[in-house]
Amino acid sequence: MEKVMAVNCGSSSFKFKLYDMPEETVICSGIVERIGHDDGIFTIKYNGEKETKVLPVADHGYAVKIVVDAMLEKQIIKSIDEIKATGHRVVQGGAYFDRSVIFNDDVYAKIESLIPLAPLHNKAHLVGYNAFKKVLPNTPAVAVFDTAFHQTMEPEDYTFPIPYEYTEKYQIRRYGAHGTSHKYLSEIGEKYCNGDAKRMIICHLGSGASITATKNGKCVATSMGLTPLGGIMMNSRTGDMDPSVFYQIAKVTGKDVETLFQELNKQSGLLGVSGISNDSRDVAASAHNGDKRSKLAMDLWARRIADYIGQYYVRLGGADLIIFSAGIGENAAEYREIVLNRIQEALGITYSKEANDKALGVEAVISNPDSKIKVVVIPTDEEVMIARDAYNLCLK
Ligand code: ADP
Repeated sequence: MEKVMAVNCGSSSFKFKLYDMPEETVICSGIVERIGHDDGIFTIKYNGEKETKVLPVADHGYAVKIVVDAMLEKQIIKSIDEIKATGHRVVQGGAYFDRSVIFNDDVYAKIESLIPLAPLHNKAHLVGYNAFKKVLPNTPAVAVFDTAFHQTMEPEDYTFPIPYEYTEKYQIRRYGAHGTSHKYLSEIGEKYCNGDAKRMIICHLGSGASITATKNGKCVATSMGLTPLGGIMMNSRTGDMDPSVFYQIAKVTGKDVETLFQELNKQSGLLGVSGISNDSRDVAASAHNGDKRSKLAMDLWARRIADYIGQYYVRLGGADLIIFSAGIGENAAEYREIVLNRIQEALGITYSKEANDKALGVEAVISNPDSKIKVVVIPTDEEVMIARDAYNLCLK
């Protein structure tokens, strides 16, 4: 048994999960939040108990030290050498990476060169990597890219119809996101597919959300674009829309590109249309209370997902399986229902309302046996994929 840590560093937070590998047993997990603040928050879950401390956390280096010290203090590890490898989530791997790789100078430089495509994320990942390197200088680290799974797309699925020099010169194309989750779900979903082609439409519906079409375990198309702003409507992001919306709002309000980009990312989607919240639970509650804009927000959300499912059904030449996953997809029966009600007639899907209502945070089939496409709920697990790749590349 070897201990491997899955790491997800954001600009002000750092999530971790320590595994015993290859058994994939979770030993402990947690998060350091508000890095850079005097009232940083450190939470660790171990042995069924959750402990939270508020303390100053100057930077990522200190955040890593807090985590390692807590593990030593609780005797989760006896020495830091027991952590045999770390796996780091990296949001943008560009066209460089179609799989996970061990960090070295070249990998580091490539992730750095992609910062313009994912300014907040890639920068934070490297800050996190450096912090780990200081505390665990001899532990190998692996980069696991959100984009890698989508590198099997064909040019007609990833090229944008803009002047081609932009595509060439600035690498502007569709890269997608949530690839680690989509890969995990496609692997778990295999057992539900009878046909040879294993055609799946995978709906990762969290606050960020994307849909991927896969054939034989490979990504054929995915909804997120250059950045996670593209694709279906999300909790606070627009998803796809006529690009002239951007131009027109800038023209009538005088707002600059940066401000508008933030609005499309943070003030739009369910939040923007409802004006209520960027949490889908609040929007549903408000719709139940008769709020018309909240109801419209939910309908719009479902319509855009239904449209993408239809598009991917054609792209794949049919489908064997539809998977619902992530925060909303795993836990919100009502949100699944409003999607299913929009696709069932065209795709010959029938499902059990009771099975759908019961499928909360658990793996479950919700379609009926006579449904032309099987529909399942599968909880996703990006961390275990990160730990797996770190173990396979460094220790196997
Ligand atoms: P993220 O996309 O931020 O990584 P998740 O995949 O966990 O996170 O999704 C979080 C979202 O899931 C929350 O914004 C919340 O709206 C939604 N969610 C979780 N549980 C429910 C539920 N029971 N009903 C509706 N929405 C839910």
